[in-house]
Amino acid sequence: MIAKRDYYEILGVARDADGPELKKAYRQLALKYHPDRNSGDREAEEKFKEAAEAYDVLNDSQKRGIYDQYGHEGLEGSGFSGFGGFDDIFSNFGGIFENLFGFGGGGRTRSGAKKGADLRYDLSLSFMEAAFGMNRDLTIEKREVCSVCDGSGCEPGTSPATCPHCKGTGQVTRSQGFFTVRTTCHHCKGNGQSIPHPCLECRGTGQVMVTKKVSVKIPAGVDSGSRLRLTAEGEAGVKGGPPGDLYVFIYVDSHDFFERDGTNVICSVTVSFVQAALGDDIKVPTLDGKKTLVIPKGTQPGDLFRFMGEGIPSLRDGRRGDQIIHLKMKTPTNLNKKQEKLLKEFARIESGKFSHKLKNIIKGESMKSAG
Ligand SMILES: [Zn+2]
Ligand SMILES: [Zn+2]
Repeated sequence: MIAKRDYYEILGVARDADGPELKKAYRQLALKYHPDRNSGDREAEEKFKEAAEAYDVLNDSQKRGIYDQYGHEGLEGSGFSGFGGFDDIFSNFGGIFENLFGFGGGGRTRSGAKKGADLRYDLSLSFMEAAFGMNRDLTIEKREVCSVCDGSGCEPGTSPATCPHCKGTGQVTRSQGFFTVRTTCHHCKGNGQSIPHPCLECRGTGQVMVTKKVSVKIPAGVDSGSRLRLTAEGEAGVKGGPPGDLYVFIYVDSHDFFERDGTNVICSVTVSFVQAALGDDIKVPTLDGKKTLVIPKGTQPGDLFRFMGEGIPSLRDGRRGDQIIHLKMKTPTNLNKKQEKLLKEFARIESGKFSHKLKNIIKGESMKSAG
């Protein structure tokens, strides 16, 4: 694959170019490379597509932010795939071409075909659901093609008539100084047809609101901020245009015991100072159930332990991170008589050891100074 060119470079604008500057630059390129003027010229076609893609990204603050930070790879990661061809471009920019450039998309928008709107669904997942992935049915409300009229907007048995305002051309012309400007006919929105008997089900719009179940496979390892794109699950297109996409934004709930740091899982467990001093085997919850952690003799508070590969799978390659265990220590309270006696005995030995050590040090010092 050929390396993609920088979007700012394609449009020939500065990295801080604002909306009007982008539009101006794009307009010039689109006019220059428009397929109507460069029929059959493959290079112009590529340039035209390239400019459309650059404009689409830079003119969208969200996509631009991703691109500025992560470049082309970042956009691919976020599900943006550029444009497949002219139809894609015209269905996205039909409005721009008609309103700003004074010409339509080379006849492609005259049918009134428009891509459906993208939809957003905010999905909350539990910590475990996000860690292991799952299938989930989402209930969404969206516009679908009316099944009664098949999207035509005409009551069954009737058919559309030629728009009397533009005589079916979809465009009206008016003079502006020396120029004749063609604009979209407002009565038929450019499709050249009027509907004498609107469909009762959709009132002539060709679309109806429906509640639909969409099954979505949540991959293991998603995190808050992950975004899934379900192609063509958005709203229906208009007049045969392609449907929009459904974007699922993920929010992951916190967990009582586990915390997450990328693919690593962090937790803390508490042992008594006796366990820490003598060593012990304890059971620690992991994502896959309890696992034995060997506490070695002389473990200190704050020591870290690690279960390799017990973390969360990476979205990229499925490899699991680690579970990191912070060890906390608790001092026993409510000691009974016997425990207290034993501890005092322990303390006496400790101080004995200490004073013995101290004596040796003092002895060593005095020997040194004597020698
Ligand atoms: Zn209908
Ligand atoms: Zn018309």
